[in-house]
This record gives sequence, C-alpha cells and structure tokens, in this order.
Amino acid sequence: MDNHRFTKAMRQKLAREQRKLSRRAEGAKRRGVPLHKAKNYQKQKCVVARLHEKVTNQRKDFLHKLSTDLIKNHDRIVVEDLHAKGMLRNRKLASAISDVSWSMFVTQLTYKADWYGKQLIKVDRWFPSSQLCSSCGHHDGKKGLHVRKWSCSACHAPHDRDINAAVNILQEGLRTAGTAGIA
Ligand SMILES: [Zn+2]
Repeated sequence: MDNHRFTKAMRQKLAREQRKLSRRAEGAKRRGVPLHKAKNYQKQKCVVARLHEKVTNQRKDFLHKLSTDLIKNHDRIVVEDLHAKGMLRNRKLASAISDVSWSMFVTQLTYKADWYGKQLIKVDRWFPSSQLCSSCGHHDGKKGLHVRKWSCSACHAPHDRDINAAVNILQEGLRTAGTAGIA
C-alpha cells in the first residue's frame, strides 16, 4: 500500500513551516526580543505544532487502515518481529510506512488478528530472511543493503531482495507454527 506521496507532501509542508519558524527566531534575535515575547515566532510555533499533530494522526489513521485491511483479507499473516532499525532493511516497507513505529503496527496486527479470529505468526528477527535462497534453501551469505537483486550461488535462481525475504519469512513462519503445507 503506497503512502509515499502523502508523507512526502506533508514532510515538505512541515519543512517549509519549520524554516519559517527559524527565520522568525532569527528576526527576534536581531531585534533583541526574547523568544517567549516574540509574537510572530510564537504564532508560527503553534502552526508547526499543529502540523506535527496532524502528521501523527494521519500516520496513525494510515496504519489502522492498513492493519485492518491486511487482517480482514488474510487468514494467516507472518511478520518479521523487527525493531525499527531492522525495518529499514525492507525498502518497500520502509517507504510505505516510512518512519512509523513498526512495533505499533505489529501491536495493531496482533489485537486485530485476535478480534477477527485470524492467525498472526511472528518470525524471530534474527532469522536470516535476506540471506537464504527461497528456491533451494542455500545460505548465500550476508548481502549489503544496496544489493536489491541477486542470484543464488547454488541453484542460480534470480531473486528480488524483498520478495525473496518475504517468501522466506512466510515459509519460516509456517514451519515454526507447524502449519507448513496448509497455505
Ligand atoms: Zn538457490
């Protein structure tokens, strides 16, 4: 689900208003007015704060829509139990939910899976999802973040980094949950 255009527009708007805020801070400083007495600065500070709140709320809305949609339309979902830092490994995911807290998203998936009677399986974050060949299982070694496509050195299957990792996570999730072969 693509959220990129929206976050980009909001980020640009926020950056614009923040630049305006620092210009006003500089102006007050030039005039020798302390910031807490600089009316234009204070007014702009409110604009920036409201914008921050708006971004936070819209991000929450987006996450709720995405998690509800995923849970309603799938009986079984496997996720990598990543911390925010690990999330950046997946470029598509990172651009879709940008800097959103991954743990908040997994929490939503967890309780919504419970509400709708669906199964959420978490795969250990140390599972080497981007190092295994999803075709033959060969452990092909660490890949730098810049490696988006690679071929297995054992079976020569061509891989897209994110798709290969997703297939591995799914297989590992089904294996650990003892449901391999059902899906
Ligand atoms: Zn292979």
